[in-house]
Formats: sequence, structure tokens, C-alpha cells
Amino acid sequence: MVIIMNKGAGEEEIAAVSLEVRNRGFGVHRSDGAEQTVLGIAGEVLGIDPRTFESLPGVQEVVLLTEPYKLASLGFRRKRSVIRVGEIEIGGPEVVIMAGPCTIEGEEQLYRSAESVAKAGARILRGGAFKPRTSPYSFQGPGIAGLELLRRVGDEMGMATISEVMEAGQIEPMLPFVDILQVGTRNMQNYNLLAALGKVNRPVLLKRGMSATVQEWLLAAEYIMAGGNHDVILCERGIRTFETSLRNTLDLSAVPMVQSLSHLPVIVDPSHATGRRDMVTPLARAAVAVGADGLLIEVHHDPDAARCDGPQSLRPAEFASLMGELRLIVQAVGRRVSEESAASLP
Ligand code: PEP
Ligand code: MN
Repeated sequence: MVIIMNKGAGEEEIAAVSLEVRNRGFGVHRSDGAEQTVLGIAGEVLGIDPRTFESLPGVQEVVLLTEPYKLASLGFRRKRSVIRVGEIEIGGPEVVIMAGPCTIEGEEQLYRSAESVAKAGARILRGGAFKPRTSPYSFQGPGIAGLELLRRVGDEMGMATISEVMEAGQIEPMLPFVDILQVGTRNMQNYNLLAALGKVNRPVLLKRGMSATVQEWLLAAEYIMAGGNHDVILCERGIRTFETSLRNTLDLSAVPMVQSLSHLPVIVDPSHATGRRDMVTPLARAAVAVGADGLLIEVHHDPDAARCDGPQSLRPAEFASLMGELRLIVQAVGRRVSEESAASLP
């Protein structure tokens, strides 16, 4: 249920309506639009008569949301959410490019990979420190020591940072080093982790579970938002289908679908979607054309030597050339993408 306040409703009226909702034992989620404030009531509201609130001063209308997700739905917030990461805006006119190695392997590897993506115009540096590897014998990532490196290199390149969190206990230790906390496909339904992320004041990139429907994905976002953290960025990274020729099947139709259901930004990861370097560029082009708000791309300065996901990692020159192509494509869809950095970068 959402309570839409009048255009001119004042703070006192908003406070009085919020109090009325709380007095009935419900939480209130406030969303201030350009013209109107919307108050979302989370929880089991079946027993409440909407007229209870409709008659309060300052209330324009009360709408029952029929989707099972509420805060994530377009009905709760009627304009697209823009998530701020420092000066970067995800969900605005810029298509935000996040790039870097799958896993942080060491100083030279991270530095050289980061330098190449920064120069080509990527804004956010990726690098896994806690890795959800399919095999327990594979490299599991460097942990917090790797994240210290991620922050240092990111700062030096003028980039924000993103890295995957696998369990609730890792959140606090990661906060000094990571600007966006990534939830991987395998953890999209780890509800304890999602609830814990709802309690932190840090954007979360929520990857789609590899066998999750769009509705399950939005409900996972709802878990984070219900805790109070509304800064959720969705990421389509390919799903499991009967098709086995690539690592996954990239569901690009999910991008406009999600945009028709939710106000949250949605980005695309063509690297994990395909598992193959030669497929990353064509699908990255398509993702931007279909309306994605950003891309998450694996880039390694020497993919043949990578300890994880080398076959899908772009080489620096390939990434730079993709960025050039994206600068042309964004014009056709009324967006923009950051320019190459001045040669003054380290
Ligand atoms: C990753 O981005 O490094 C990753 C493990 O991705 P996914 O969760 O999509 O497999
Ligand atoms: Mn990877």
C-alpha cells in the first residue's frame, strides 16, 4: 500500500500520516519525488481499509500495490532511482562502466588492469576478494588484504570500487574499502545476507540468481530495501537455460522488463553471461542499446595468466576499443558514457 501525498503537502502533514501508520504497527518508507512525497507501508496490510488514510489531511490517494514487491516497484516511486556513488550517478543519463579483473591477484595485476580501464574511461574498479568458486580447490580470493589494495589503486586512478560480499560478517570489515557491495548470483537468495545489507548505508549491486525469475530477483531487492537501504542496483548476468553453447544465456529482455516494473537501475554483466571474450563486446553493445544503466566487465592485463575467469576477460586494448564503440551507441539511445581519461593518469 502506498499513500500519495498532495503536491503541496507540508512536513507536518507528512509526519502526521507517518505517525498514524506507525501507530497501527507498520513501518513507513518515505520517497520524495520531484513534486510529491509517497509513503510506502511495508508488511501485511490486507486488513486495513485504505480510506483510513485517504481522509487524513494532505493525502491525495491511497494505492494498493498488487505486485508482491512494494518498495522496488514503480508504483512506490514513480520516477527512476538514481544511485549516487561519490560523484557518479547510476540510473541517470550516464551509462556507468565498471571494469577490472575477476579477482584481485596481486599488486602488479590489479594496478596494470586498473590503469588500463581507467584510461579507457571506466568509472568503477571491480575486483573480487571473497570469491564464490564452484570448486573448493580453486583460488578463493585474497580477502581483506586484497580490498586494501583495491581501495589504494582505485584512489590512485580516481575510481570508486566494487567487490563481492559473501556473508553478513564480511560487511563491516569491507566498508572502508568498497563503495558498492556486490551480491553474486549464488547469493541472490541468501536472505540473511540481504537483510543485513538492508541495514547498511552503502549501495548494493544485486546480481540476478542464475535460475531466478524477474519477480524473485525483485523480491530479493525488496529484502534489502525493506531493511531501509534503498540503494539497490540490479545486474543481469545471464541465466541457466537449456542452451549450453555459452556459460549462461544473457536475458537482455530482462532489462526493459525490469524497467517496466521497477524504478531501480539495472546494469548488465556480459562477462559472466557468456564466459567467452569474443562474445563480451557484441553483448555489451546490445546491452547499452537495450537501455542498460551500466556494464560490469572483466578486464585483465594478461588474461592468459589470470587465476580466475581469464577466458572471458577482455585485454586492455579490446576494452578500450569497446569503450569507443559504446560512445557511438549511447548517442542513439540518448545517453552518454565517460570519456577517456587525460594522459596524466599514473
Ligand atoms: C563476479 O562478478 O565475480 C561473479 C562471481 O559473478 P556472478 O556472481 O555473476 O557469477
Ligand atoms: Mn569472474
